Amino acid sequence: MSSVSSQQQMVVIGAGVIGLVTACCLQQQGHQVLLLDGNGVGQGCSFGNAGHLATEQVFPLADPALLPKLPGFLLDPLGPLAIRPRYFLKALPFFVRFINQMRPKKRSANMQALKQLLQSAIPAWQQLLDDAGCAHLIKTDGSLLVFEQTALAQVEQVAQSYAQQGVALEVLTKAQLQSRFPGLADSVNYAIWFSEVGQTISPNLLNQALFQWFLSMGGQFLQQKVANISSRHGLAVHLEPNQMAAAQQSEATPQIIATAQLVVCAGVHSKSLLAQLGFKLPIEAERGYHLMTSPALLPVLPVASFERKMIMTPMQEGLRLAGTVEFAGTELADNWQRAERLRFHGEALWPALLNKPQLKDAKNGKAEASAALAAAGNDVSPDLSKIRPANCWSGMRPTLPDSLPVISGCDIPGLWFHLGHQHLGLTMAASSTRLLLKLMAKEPGSAQLAAPFSLKRFN
Ligand SMILES: Cc1cc2nc3c(=O)[nH]c(=O)nc-3n(C[C@H](O)[C@H](O)[C@H](O)COP(=O)(O)OP(=O)(O)OC[C@H]3O[C@@H](n4cnc5c(N)ncnc54)[C@H](O)[C@@H]3O)c2cc1C
Repeated sequence: MSSVSSQQQMVVIGAGVIGLVTACCLQQQGHQVLLLDGNGVGQGCSFGNAGHLATEQVFPLADPALLPKLPGFLLDPLGPLAIRPRYFLKALPFFVRFINQMRPKKRSANMQALKQLLQSAIPAWQQLLDDAGCAHLIKTDGSLLVFEQTALAQVEQVAQSYAQQGVALEVLTKAQLQSRFPGLADSVNYAIWFSEVGQTISPNLLNQALFQWFLSMGGQFLQQKVANISSRHGLAVHLEPNQMAAAQQSEATPQIIATAQLVVCAGVHSKSLLAQLGFKLPIEAERGYHLMTSPALLPVLPVASFERKMIMTPMQEGLRLAGTVEFAGTELADNWQRAERLRFHGEALWPALLNKPQLKDAKNGKAEASAALAAAGNDVSPDLSKIRPANCWSGMRPTLPDSLPVISGCDIPGLWFHLGHQHLGLTMAASSTRLLLKLMAKEPGSAQLAAPFSLKRFN
């Protein structure tokens, strides 16, 4: 392919939910946008998330209450939080920064900043999807946080901590739960019903609908990985040569794209693109897993477990069991036993899952799991952790130590960053994009609103 360059008004790197919403909103404002992604549309972390519009999650991840629980978590490689021994030293600088963010003053400031994005998150999504003509892709029936062993006094304490932050909720007893939300296991004694939160019926359908809307407004897409960004003679993206794409592309396919404005929305992979420009981005991949099931009875809203640290979300595709955090960087192989472990928790909370062919507790039952995998038609080898069952998925949450995204410009004119939305990228995509667009348009007051999300905090 000959070296061709082209000129674009605006380029967005990354077609995850953050890049898609950004590209749609910019195109809707009348800009001509080119969206680039090396892996296609919505195939990264945004593909398989739990679909929860989790506006109640106002507390930053750096919580001092985590510290005493850490040894227990770390001794269980299939527990809610795991660090691969081979990756521990690499993640250490992140952990040091993370622990620093537990200090009360920082934690409180981070929470206020998060609340700013969460409070407007659902209205921003509703407006966007109304405009896109696909409002049916989100529902706002609330979600449940269920408790099995926790005493009522502690449940009420947890509820109070959310209520103090303005989160609408109701504490439900077992009898209330059984009449209002039939299907929950008998072991569930209490729940907090967050009445104003929501969910999408399918993250994948949502991404694809946004993409179709983007195209229908005249947006352009190129499936091509960006090798680097240069700024010496004006902003430009340099595309990585891609054999397959090259075979399909015409002679006119550009290798260098000069642009007046560039927004980086490359999730956890943004780090290397920024490093080439001399910016530090202490982003870590918090790997999570999902497992899809299809019980005869689905819950009517997302059900998260306080003790098990996982969530079940009813979707168009079935019931999605999702969660767990694993620090393993971006390169180490997935451990699919972590995904299988979700089934064990799902069955304990939602007995309708017991009627499906299943893998038992993956930690204790390799032989049983092999038989079930074989029955399900999967390729079986002795090391189950390395086999990806067809119904399982993993994704890398892009997380910064203070739990805040980067919504920021920099000293290079026209270069913007929109990334690092941790466990809440789906939730915050629309509200965070609103703030970015205000900043790009230099709206009065926007710099102040966006100050907590500036890239300067790391540079
Ligand atoms: C198990 C799990 C459950 C979750 N549940 C929820 C939930 O219920 N609610 C919620 O709000 N959030 C949830 N999240 C978090 C949410 O999924 C993420 O915050 C969000 O998807 C991040 O979106 P993104 O667009 O920044 O990243 P991504 O979706 O990863 O998109 C980044 C894109 O950039 C592309 N890219 C990277 N580098 C380049 C390059 N050099 N050139 C071109 N393209 C590039 C990638 O191919 C990718 O498509 C969950 C995450 C996980 C793992």
